[in-house]
Amino acid sequence: MRIYNFEEGAPAVNADEIYMKEALKLAQKAYEEDEVPIGAVIVSQGKIIGKGYNLTERLNDVTAHAEMQAFTAAANFIGGKYLKDCTLYVTVEPCVMCAGASYWTQIPRIVYGAKDEKRGYQVFNPKIIHPKTQIVGGVLEQECGELMKRFFKSKR
Ligand SMILES: [Zn+2]
Repeated sequence: MRIYNFEEGAPAVNADEIYMKEALKLAQKAYEEDEVPIGAVIVSQGKIIGKGYNLTERLNDVTAHAEMQAFTAAANFIGGKYLKDCTLYVTVEPCVMCAGASYWTQIPRIVYGAKDEKRGYQVFNPKIIHPKTQIVGGVLEQECGELMKRFFKSKR
């Protein structure tokens, strides 16, 4: 029995893809500002409570990664430093710094798009993620990775 009223043959869009698309919009914004195109959103109970995109060039700050901006914005929104009941959506696998920051936020779920084979946290230390944090990779991987490839190609 079908309980969903989706159009025949149309692929079901899941929530992770919907929020990843929002993160992608921010990555696109970074791209247009000549920043490494990575975007992030933090969602709590179906609502986006923090957003960020890479600003390392504009701020002259190597720590200004998309995830760091989003963590700060979400904590400000909540009025507390812990991001329990939240999910981080980020277009590219977090680096060790952001993965480490995610540990401190106690965020229970991280969803990323493209894998970062060179600087992703898994290359250096997969254990940096909190053992209770669920990780989902590869959501809209193609789109997320494509933007990065286009950016670095234009830099050559
Ligand atoms: Zn990072």
